[in-house]
Amino acid sequence: MSALWSDHVADLLPYVPGEQAGIPNLLKLNTNEHPYGPSPEAIAAIRQAANDSLRLYPDYQARALRQVIAARHGLTPDQVFLGNGSDEILAHAFDALFLREGRPLLMPDITYSFYQTYCRMYRVPHVCIPLADDFTMRVADYTDWSGPAPAGIIFAHPNAPTGRALELDDIAAIARAHPDTAVVVDEAYVDFGAQSAVSLLGEFDNLLVIHTLSKSRSLAGLRVGFAMGDTALIEALTRIKDSFNSYPVDSLAQAGARAALLDDDYFEMTRHAVMSSRENLARELKALGFEVLPSRANFVFARHPAHDAVDILARVRKQGILLRHFRQPRIDQFLRITVGTPADCERLCQCLGQIVSKSH
Ligand SMILES: *Cc1c(COP(=O)(O)O)cnc(C)c1O
Repeated sequence: MSALWSDHVADLLPYVPGEQAGIPNLLKLNTNEHPYGPSPEAIAAIRQAANDSLRLYPDYQARALRQVIAARHGLTPDQVFLGNGSDEILAHAFDALFLREGRPLLMPDITYSFYQTYCRMYRVPHVCIPLADDFTMRVADYTDWSGPAPAGIIFAHPNAPTGRALELDDIAAIARAHPDTAVVVDEAYVDFGAQSAVSLLGEFDNLLVIHTLSKSRSLAGLRVGFAMGDTALIEALTRIKDSFNSYPVDSLAQAGARAALLDDDYFEMTRHAVMSSRENLARELKALGFEVLPSRANFVFARHPAHDAVDILARVRKQGILLRHFRQPRIDQFLRITVGTPADCERLCQCLGQIVSKSH
């Protein structure tokens, strides 16, 4: 706290990212990074772009990259918006779409915790709708909403940190029920087994779908995300961006992202490796007595009926393994575990096996 601060800064509740610890022999299973590196084509493109032309500003419209994204999703480039990671796009979406005469934003009570941070930052009134007991979204709570007309609806699909996904018909029903409301679908994990709502964009001009290269493309360090939707929604985001920072995606990031998106073979190989590793990990955790939610993401959400989550967290950390825990009602006995390589999962399960067998 300082007397020099703007009035609202003291009230902010910044998002707390997972730890990036400097522990020897560290196994990071806490921030859903990809266990395999990015496409070699992406690395080559970044190297090639590291030249004298860095003295120039990047293409502020990122035309080449937007063209690739549009072509791959059957869209036009003016239906694509780029950001410095999808977190930045989410922030712009809160600012551009959710501040409408006090109308509330609807979101699940358990979802990506950054949404709460943005609500506070932009002073967006909001209503948190409880997930069902099995941690699925009850679609009728949104379609039959009888409160004040919402300014927006936002959820992650698959949801984080639960890993649970919706059917496309459910997303369509939500968008159809609120034609005058922006419905933002954060698909950070969609490539690990859920169906993307991008295919609904032709039908709904109120739908905005956000993707990132941080998870399934293994480029968290490059900071590239993109949103897809009707040109009017994209224009709102662009107006905010160009009032804030015209160049959020640098030249190296544009080159690397483009090459990564064009490397289908590597993408298919690595995402399938993660999905198959996930199924093995879920099976092994269940064999150790964990309850594991069905996941369509690159993490699993699990609890052990006989062992306290915070205790497990501390004990695996002593062995150099980081997991993610959320101090939040309903989920404070769960651990979110990023899917690693088969060897990573093996190391984790051996460690967990010692923990759950010892105290019996
Ligand atoms: C990781 C994540 C993001 C942020 O991704 P960046 O593109 O790295 O900013 C957004 N939404 C959800 C649900 C995530 O898990």
